Amino acid sequence: MITLKILRRFLTLLSISTCFFASDYAQAQSSLHSFSLQQVTLLPGVFKNAQLTDKAYILALDPDRLLAPYLTEAGLKPKKKSYENWENTGLDGHIGGHYLSALSFMYASTHDAELNRRLDYMLAQLKRAQDKTGSGYLGGTPGGTAMWKDIVAGKIEADTFALNKKWVPLYNIHKLFAGLRDAYLIAGKSQAKNILVQLTDYIYGVSLKLTDEQIQTMLISEQGSLNEVFADVSVITGQDKYLQLAKRFSHKEILNPLIQGHDELNGLHANMQIPKAVGFQRISEVGGGADYGKAAQFFWETVVNNRSVVIGGNSVNEHFNPTGNFTKMITDIAGPETCNSYNMLKLTRHLFEKAGEVKYMDYYERTLYNHILSSQHPVHGGFVYYTSMRPRHYRVYSQPQVDMWCCVGSGMENHGKYGELIYSYQQKNIYVNLFIASRLNWAAQGLVLSQQTKFPDEETTRLSIDAVKPGRFDINIRYPRWVKAGKLQIKINGAKVPVNAQPGSYVKLNRLWKKGDEITVRLPMELSTEALPDSSHYVAFLNGPIVLAAKTDTTDLDNLIADGDQFGGYRARGKMYPLNEAPILASNQANLQNYLKPVAGKPQTFVAPELISPDKFKNLELIPFYKLHDARYMIYWHQGNLDNAETK
Ligand SMILES: [Zn+2]
Repeated sequence: MITLKILRRFLTLLSISTCFFASDYAQAQSSLHSFSLQQVTLLPGVFKNAQLTDKAYILALDPDRLLAPYLTEAGLKPKKKSYENWENTGLDGHIGGHYLSALSFMYASTHDAELNRRLDYMLAQLKRAQDKTGSGYLGGTPGGTAMWKDIVAGKIEADTFALNKKWVPLYNIHKLFAGLRDAYLIAGKSQAKNILVQLTDYIYGVSLKLTDEQIQTMLISEQGSLNEVFADVSVITGQDKYLQLAKRFSHKEILNPLIQGHDELNGLHANMQIPKAVGFQRISEVGGGADYGKAAQFFWETVVNNRSVVIGGNSVNEHFNPTGNFTKMITDIAGPETCNSYNMLKLTRHLFEKAGEVKYMDYYERTLYNHILSSQHPVHGGFVYYTSMRPRHYRVYSQPQVDMWCCVGSGMENHGKYGELIYSYQQKNIYVNLFIASRLNWAAQGLVLSQQTKFPDEETTRLSIDAVKPGRFDINIRYPRWVKAGKLQIKINGAKVPVNAQPGSYVKLNRLWKKGDEITVRLPMELSTEALPDSSHYVAFLNGPIVLAAKTDTTDLDNLIADGDQFGGYRARGKMYPLNEAPILASNQANLQNYLKPVAGKPQTFVAPELISPDKFKNLELIPFYKLHDARYMIYWHQGNLDNAETK
């Protein structure tokens, strides 16, 4: 056993040290490998549009303003003043860290020269700041150097949102760590590796002065996925001491119950815990212990199955609500936070690569369309923080130069990496996981595979082989659980092929593929309903994996584009309309989806005049939630009469 473990570690390290792209990064012990973003190009469609909109948002930001906190802290004069909002009130620099990741993803995906230039510029300036501190330390937290000296001296005072009276400095510095890692692993910037390793050495040096108890005290405060990055650094450098650092920076109060299979998450800040689980998973992948993997797996299962709403998101007012009571999900305006889903998709990707199971892609797809894609304004590119589940409430969008929330940072990253899991591979075999218009260029196998589709506006996707080296291999098509057994149809070059696979697996197509071959996949989408996880009388409609919502009105949309208010600007604080005046579903029967009728000439649009009550709402149209913006909406509907409904 020990020999095998050492061998696997060696292979893991070898695969990382010889090449820096994401595909290789993911190879550690995984059963399915991801392609790098450089290998997958989005073709025209909703995701390509979102990518371009995000690119414009990223380019609108000024690198010199994002660098200001880092230069100031290092004792250098910044070229421009920092941004305001969360960028000059204590969390200074966090967006700069996200910016490194966002530039890396977007550059890898689009090969845009300006993004590359900006990334180089950011790294050069950060190097200058790190050289100035002389200690390896680099950070934007005001007074960060003095804070770390206090910590080394044993002065540690931690609260959920504070460490030594500063606003989550560990969370803040994690964004820089992750940005440097992504600049190295995703964009191939070797200078980022040098900054990253020096910075890790600085924290490693601090850790040597601290007991395990002192580190655990620090970890009471929010820390992002510091444990994940340290595990990555252990792979990048081949040094075990960083893996030990990753384990010491794993919050045991959260880890231990998860190892035991206990969900003790009620009431906890959700986005503080999800990144920890990402780190647990990464630690297990690089040889840090199976218990860490067990904890991550259990965390995913309980959050996805017991704590997520129909869009794939979780949390009310940023906290995990009790699994048996989702009342606040309906009554509160602050529904799922976008950062949570950003991190859940990271965890999902890790677990999918390890196990290759369709259940992970089903969740990934659900969340990708209904939370991630929907959280970006399709025109001005503003990002959403809270997606309200309250009937007839709405969402607020960020402004590029003004709002500097967490969900702006993770939002910039989200739309630059849509290519990450459309395809996977195992040896010579391809897996088609998502139905997104794109082109895969796999030079090592001489394969160019294009996917043309308007999915979900159409039920069909067409894969064509534009180039291929002669040889036999598998093309595996995901059979999602939302397509009924026996309904998935596949044709190769126009001829129907038998599909024996079941929903929740892959259809294996093995043949001698040649240039010009075309696979057509038909994925019939069925209407369905989904109740809240607590089985209360609130239900949502889906068409296949797509959540349907109804636009009710555009009144009282206060602060629709956030006003820059630091602590309230991201909240949709316009009037709350009474729940007992919201439209309801006037039937106690099951199979409510049978009332939905398609509207001619409008894809994915439905009405249900016999179901929706009162009369003034009966002609509301249900459309994909990701297409619904700048309006009040209904996702969850109360079923039956309102006697037992919340009426606040
Ligand atoms: Zn956030």
